[in-house]
Amino acid sequence: MQSGTSGRIVIIGGGVIGAAIGQSLVSRGQSVTIVERGVVAAKPGASGASAALLEPLAGAHPELRDTGQRALARLPGLCRDLLADTGVDPQWSRPGSMVLVSRERDATWLRSVRIPMFHEIGEPVEWLTGYQARAIEPAIGSHVVGALRIPSTQSVHAPAYVRALIADVTRRGGVVLTDTAVTGFRRDGRTVRAVVTSSGEILCDRVVIACGAWSGQVAALLGDDVPAVPITPQRGQILAIAPTAGAPRVSHVLHGAGGYAVPKPNGTVLVGATHDNVGFDPSLTPEGFRFLGTLAHDLVPGIADEPVRHVWAGFRPIWEGTGPPPAGPLPGTDNVIIAAGHGAIGLTVSAGVGEAVADLLTAW
Ligand SMILES: Cc1cc2nc3c(=O)[nH]c(=O)nc-3n(C[C@H](O)[C@H](O)[C@H](O)COP(=O)(O)OP(=O)(O)OC[C@H]3O[C@@H](n4cnc5c(N)ncnc54)[C@H](O)[C@@H]3O)c2cc1C
Repeated sequence: MQSGTSGRIVIIGGGVIGAAIGQSLVSRGQSVTIVERGVVAAKPGASGASAALLEPLAGAHPELRDTGQRALARLPGLCRDLLADTGVDPQWSRPGSMVLVSRERDATWLRSVRIPMFHEIGEPVEWLTGYQARAIEPAIGSHVVGALRIPSTQSVHAPAYVRALIADVTRRGGVVLTDTAVTGFRRDGRTVRAVVTSSGEILCDRVVIACGAWSGQVAALLGDDVPAVPITPQRGQILAIAPTAGAPRVSHVLHGAGGYAVPKPNGTVLVGATHDNVGFDPSLTPEGFRFLGTLAHDLVPGIADEPVRHVWAGFRPIWEGTGPPPAGPLPGTDNVIIAAGHGAIGLTVSAGVGEAVADLLTAW
């Protein structure tokens, strides 16, 4: 295969970051090919594994926080349009969230430190007593003394959201190649002329590396003169509880006890996740089950005896460099962008990263 059209942008990686960038670019009439070595949003890629709780990033690095706010503002309309235009339902909802605390000193910290951070970005929040929190969320424990409620927290079904973005890319004339691994690059000095894949070469004008935890490996295929990209994998194990009729209903995203519970429109509640620094080992482990079981018991005791439907794992892409994760030109090259390393908030910022990288590429 040797394919290419003038102006074509090749995006490597069919996770949420690659899909969001592709969707933003095709919406502006750009010519895009997405290359994914497996199927889009497949585990152990992070996007297929994600809990997809989408919360304002109050207190984060200002650049990341602003990208998050841009993404969250765009998301309701984007999901509505994706459903109408592609028929794929991202299962968008706005459940709101609560940060639960069981010690008075944690309540004091939330009220004096965290609440002003939300006010700073114009996000209304509300303080609830333990009694008020339990009245809304009967699955939480009697040890909860207070809760910070964030009404604007959104959620999607992560794999469905990525599939909807990809469907929109193809609907608008973009090309999506699955089961196609990028194995190298053909360069002319600092400029990449073609992306080499398991199915042949793809001619390109510009390249985006959006390979999540694998982005450092893919960037290394460019050669030794391109500085190493410090992104490492972090395994997250997570489970879905399917409460039976009569069990207390969870309606908010709940934070506490070192994790979260995320209710989905189909009634399941995701409880996660572990932070395992074990390289690219996708195993589910007894220690992971122990962590998740304890978390469910401490965070949502009212449903901790309900059936587990599914347990899975994915690799968060962890940016080990300074500043926020990269979403811009790759040093040592003239026409390569890197957009990766968004750790535990990649779903949250994806729609903003997509717009920012499309802005950059449109002006380039
Ligand atoms: C358990 C868990 C829970 C999470 N919960 C949340 C959450 O609630 N909210 C939130 O905002 N974020 C959450 N995250 C983080 C979020 O999922 C990630 O930050 C985000 O999905 C990263 O997307 P990505 O596209 O960069 O990477 P990925 O989704 O990993 O996609 C990278 C893609 O690149 C492909 N690829 C790799 N090498 C090649 C190659 N050589 N050729 C072609 N393709 C290649 C891979 O197959 C993969 O599909 C969670 C992550 C995990 C693991």
